[in-house]
Amino acid sequence: MGLEDRAKDRTRRRKGRRTRGVHTLPAMDLDVVFLGTGGSIPSARRNTAGVLVRRGGDRILFDCGEGIQRQMQRSVGLIPVDEIFITHLHADHYLGLPGLLKSYEMQDRIEPLVIHGPPGLISLFESIARIVGRQGYPVELVELNRAETVERDGYAIEPFDVAHRVIANGYVLFEHPRAGRFDPAAASALGVQPGPAFGALQRGQEVPGKDGPVRPEQVMGPDRPGRKIVITGDTAPCEATRIAAHEAELLVHDSTFTSDEAGRAAETGHSTAREAAALAAESRVQMLALVHISSRHFVPDVLEEAREAFAGAVAPRDFDVVEIPLPERGAPELIPNGAREGSPSPG
Ligand SMILES: [Zn+2]
Ligand SMILES: [Zn+2]
Repeated sequence: MGLEDRAKDRTRRRKGRRTRGVHTLPAMDLDVVFLGTGGSIPSARRNTAGVLVRRGGDRILFDCGEGIQRQMQRSVGLIPVDEIFITHLHADHYLGLPGLLKSYEMQDRIEPLVIHGPPGLISLFESIARIVGRQGYPVELVELNRAETVERDGYAIEPFDVAHRVIANGYVLFEHPRAGRFDPAAASALGVQPGPAFGALQRGQEVPGKDGPVRPEQVMGPDRPGRKIVITGDTAPCEATRIAAHEAELLVHDSTFTSDEAGRAAETGHSTAREAAALAAESRVQMLALVHISSRHFVPDVLEEAREAFAGAVAPRDFDVVEIPLPERGAPELIPNGAREGSPSPG
């Protein structure tokens, strides 16, 4: 397939990405790659903000701090992400955009890139455009307010208001419910032949049986919930996050300070490790990933503080991965250095 055809194919796929309702495709891989886990100033070990979510073939980047393209090169490769969601317009969350956009230009990217962010994104981008010049590929900017959900095939991304010093979005990525389990024995007993008719039932269609039409609900179990990932960006603990994160598989939360600087956390619109952990416990999430940790703090101390309030807290390093299997297949798992293995940079 030529480049142009590939772009057209991609556009077609994009246009098809508005399906709502029960998701009947096979199980999708879902994981989160931590590209930048540091606070506002990068350290030798921790880059500024960047979290890559991979779901099936989709690649979605949340925040793009300075150096994120280098972090990609050192792990998953300089992949053409489909979309970027910026949480807020502080430099440690967007300064990587000019370099990344320019590199895509040099790679002769032709696929459109959609960048979402809070109000103010478009005016910020006018300044960025002066640095990087015109792109040879379409860049679409979308300012998102609370609850302006972005629907995709099988999942959605919804912004919510977090509590920072500036307008800031947290994002929930939630999968649509999946169809229940198909019971082939029940279908056979109703006179349905294995083969295409089984597939049709699983896609929600009626098929003929020995005593008349067989409806999907006769042979399918109840819908199964999809997975949920919440990314807060910078925030003080807040009710909106508590609600958004309810029973999420993974909550990626601001943990800039430890409790001895609780006052400073409140003043600056950030959270302590204990506050993030208490919220994770109240929201009954499965795993809490602490990020945006100030370089002045010793990470094992941060983690210890969090684990007193919530046992499922982790502090990923750059290039760690959290795999999120379907609920019936197990709990989220932190894979140290998981993005360095098996997915080398293509260049
Ligand atoms: Zn920040
Ligand atoms: Zn900030």
